[in-house]
Amino acid sequence: IPTEAFTQVDNFSEQHIIKPDAALDKCMQNAANNGLPDISVSAIQGKFLMIQAKMMRAKRVLEIGTLAGYSSIWLSKALPADGELISLESNEKFAQLSRENIAYANPSCRVEVKHGAALETLDTLQGAFDMVFIDADKMNSAAYLRKAIDLTRPGAVIYVDNTVRNYNILLDEHTQDPYGIGIRAVYPALQQLQDQGLIEATNIQICSSKGHDGLAIAVRL
Ligand code: SAM
Repeated sequence: IPTEAFTQVDNFSEQHIIKPDAALDKCMQNAANNGLPDISVSAIQGKFLMIQAKMMRAKRVLEIGTLAGYSSIWLSKALPADGELISLESNEKFAQLSRENIAYANPSCRVEVKHGAALETLDTLQGAFDMVFIDADKMNSAAYLRKAIDLTRPGAVIYVDNTVRNYNILLDEHTQDPYGIGIRAVYPALQQLQDQGLIEATNIQICSSKGHDGLAIAVRL
């Protein structure tokens, strides 16, 4: 897969249609300075999420997997004054850094970064959310998807990130790779929830500076 070509096109698009944003740059810089892994969404993808939240006029957004708060900042840009973003993060250091980054970027936004394993913190939440972005440990993506059902209203949209990478693991039914087992489990979960009449879902392949990947999108019925 020619990631170099995807990167060049992402760079080209970024230069033309994404305004430089000092707070987003500072978030990435803080992440690097503190040794966080470089696994946040790209600027193009972050803006995609922001546009999705704006399109559905989301007021309550739930994110699972905060890291340094890069995607949280993008999502927070879409929220109205009375909006709210809750983001779940298991690493205490990441949670603290993300709080600082988000507060710097968007001081007036109601954002809560909850520290803890998302399988547990999800059970402390009450719906209804308008949008859910699942981007944490891939082994639990299917479980997060199932839990998101109880936390969303009809018409809400649930996104599950990284549903393709690495595609040869995805397509290997005998894979022993925990990441592969995790992302493969998302598909039967989507199918089951569709069969139950709870969602309609699809899966979009994405070619970006992050390589070849995918994003599953489910609308809550
Ligand atoms: N959404 C972020 C962004 O684009 O800026 C990137 C999130 S990163 C891919 C995944 C995050 O999920 C990491 O910060 C990791 O610490 C966190 N994580 C891993 N396991 C978790 C768990 N069980 N509960 C909550 N967060 C978890």
